[in-house]
Amino acid sequence: MRILFISIAIFSVLLLMYLLYILNKKKNRLNDVLRRILLYAMLGVSANIIIASGDNRLLNNICFAIYFASINFITYHLLIYCLIYTNRQRFEMFVTKIYKYVILVDAVSLFVSVWSKTMFTMYTMVIDDGTLAFQTRPTPLFNIHLLLCYLPIVFGMGSLFVSTLQSHSFYKIKYFSVFSAIVSIVILNIVYMMFNLPFDWSVLFYGAAAFFLFYISNFYVPKKLMNKTLNLAVDSMKEGLLLFDAERNCIYINKTARRTFNIDKDALTPSDYPLSVWLKGKDKKSAEEFVETFDMEMDGAIHSIRVDFKHCHSKKYHILGSFFLFEDITEDVNLMKSLEEARAEAYKANAAKSMFLANMSHEIRTPINSILGMNEMILREATDKNILEYAGDIDNSGNALLSLINNILDFSKIESGKMEIKPEEYCVYQLVRECYHLVAPRALIKDLPIRIECDENVPKTLIGDMSRIRQVLVNLLTNSVKYTKYGHVGLKLLWEETSQDTGKLTFTVSDTGQGISEDDINRLFRVFQRVDEDHNRNIEGTGLGLAICRELMTMMNGTIEAESSKGIGSKFTVSLPQKIADHAPSGTFSLSEKEEKKRDKYRESFHAPDAKILVVDDIELNLKLIGALLKKTRVQITTAEGGNKAIEFCEKEKFDLILMDHMMPTPDGVETMEKIKSMGGHNSKIPFIVLTANAIEGADKTYLALGFDGYLSKPVLGADLEAALKKFLPEDKIKD
Ligand code: ADP
Repeated sequence: MRILFISIAIFSVLLLMYLLYILNKKKNRLNDVLRRILLYAMLGVSANIIIASGDNRLLNNICFAIYFASINFITYHLLIYCLIYTNRQRFEMFVTKIYKYVILVDAVSLFVSVWSKTMFTMYTMVIDDGTLAFQTRPTPLFNIHLLLCYLPIVFGMGSLFVSTLQSHSFYKIKYFSVFSAIVSIVILNIVYMMFNLPFDWSVLFYGAAAFFLFYISNFYVPKKLMNKTLNLAVDSMKEGLLLFDAERNCIYINKTARRTFNIDKDALTPSDYPLSVWLKGKDKKSAEEFVETFDMEMDGAIHSIRVDFKHCHSKKYHILGSFFLFEDITEDVNLMKSLEEARAEAYKANAAKSMFLANMSHEIRTPINSILGMNEMILREATDKNILEYAGDIDNSGNALLSLINNILDFSKIESGKMEIKPEEYCVYQLVRECYHLVAPRALIKDLPIRIECDENVPKTLIGDMSRIRQVLVNLLTNSVKYTKYGHVGLKLLWEETSQDTGKLTFTVSDTGQGISEDDINRLFRVFQRVDEDHNRNIEGTGLGLAICRELMTMMNGTIEAESSKGIGSKFTVSLPQKIADHAPSGTFSLSEKEEKKRDKYRESFHAPDAKILVVDDIELNLKLIGALLKKTRVQITTAEGGNKAIEFCEKEKFDLILMDHMMPTPDGVETMEKIKSMGGHNSKIPFIVLTANAIEGADKTYLALGFDGYLSKPVLGADLEAALKKFLPEDKIKD
């Protein structure tokens, strides 16, 4: 019998060690307390083993005391556990402080009782094999010890009980499960003690209690709470959810789904739910996963419902269940529709804007064409100094207006992605000279010298879009002149070869002007953004120039950067990769070449007195202008005010070339050309050149595709007009 007890006890210690090992894996304050309970339980059982295996009275007495002390510690820790679990920190601190003294009193009283033999009846029980064993049979004095020992458990349970009563029904499970665990252990212990067994195994019950509590507080309660919370969360989802088991019975349906399908949980069994019926009607293979959107009538309105049907699989890909997740996306669909409509509206508005810009370009360019053209006549023919001065002013303002329109047009082209970069061969120094001459007059008025410094090694001819680079440089130089009162403006050119055929061209435009503050520098390249408005109020500008520069540089794979110090000056640096056409170095830079091309040295480039041309335009002033521009070439000009007149002339006369406006009252330029061509005869084969104010990107290609042989945009320059005529008139009629 004794051997049996010892074996059970050793097995129990091993079991407790194993539990301790499991508990060690999850470390927190509660588990720390439980770990201690297990340690005391191991200590108590070990003491029991010694008592059962030895007959030495002193040793047995000591072990007996150890055994009772360990129960003391266990119940004390159970109380601590309950107080921590129910968040009663203040009580916990109090118990921690006083309990040591209670245990001390109990230990002393136990010791005295043992020696005075008043407490226990020792060696009273004879076990089958004749040995005597300790008994924990209570005597009246022992009851005091029992009280001190079990009072903490009573308090602990009290604390759990109060928390169970006080907590929200949702959380009752948390406290009640621990409460019931302790109650059942205590009841088991009491029942066990009533059996008059030779050994006291209470300590083992508390060891089991520790592990039980570990399981409850770490797994059971969190899982229960999680399930409850999940239920609440799934019920408050705006998506509907239905879960099915492998037999396709509905095992869960959330609130949204119940509401959507009008399911009365009490009236319908889960297998009668609409989707269960649908699912049960499918064989396993045809019930494949899908995501689809259906239209459904609900509350008298059509709703768009997105359904997601999926299976839950085991690791071996067996179907364990399925779920429907569906969402009422009517609002999203409506939003998408209105976004689509808004987008279409925006497209329309953008198209209207482009149309407006094209029209504006046409409408404004046409009168400017006349003004600048007629003014050029005055500049060529007038001799009176005053008149020449006025005409010069008209020329300046007209050109400024033209450049403003060009800026707006450029920007609209960039915005609509219609701006093209057209690389061609160009002479770098020629580019610098043109930039200089375009800005010089303005700098001269302000008495600002423009200092040019060029890297002599820059190749003579490069490949790039010269007109766009010029546009950027002229913009930067013009700004420098505009925003500088004293000092100078500088243009520096640097060249760095990056490979056999390519290099990096860097221009630096600097000035000693008013500068830009650090804050403003970051806003500089934004559209319509003018900075330092107080100072610049009197300086004309739109805030578009730098934004266009930046876009153009990006399109040419280049960069543009600004540095500036307020009151000291600004520096803009543009760098762009260019291909080399002619490797010969440009050498020393000089401004001289341009001098030969001055305006007042105008000379007609050819004479063609035998050539006959027809000019068609609905505006008389334009007809006059062409006549004036071509006067010195001595070409014979017939003018037709409108398409019908032109057709009439063509029936009677033969021409060598026709200059045709496009936008005219019916028939317009294109219709007139088509009519003349379809009439047959000599005039059907002659070149037609369209002369139009439509300057939007790609206009030239459009007109050539329509059947014209050449394209000239208004306002037309005398030189361009002469060049076109020289190209298309019969060679034998051209004389130098
Ligand atoms: P704007 O037509 O107004 O000149 P820009 O886009 O070319 O438009 O320039 C934007 C703003 O940047 C200008 O309004 C001016 O305040 C500032 N700015 C540009 N260049 C200079 C410069 N060289 N010195 C001082 N301020 C400048």
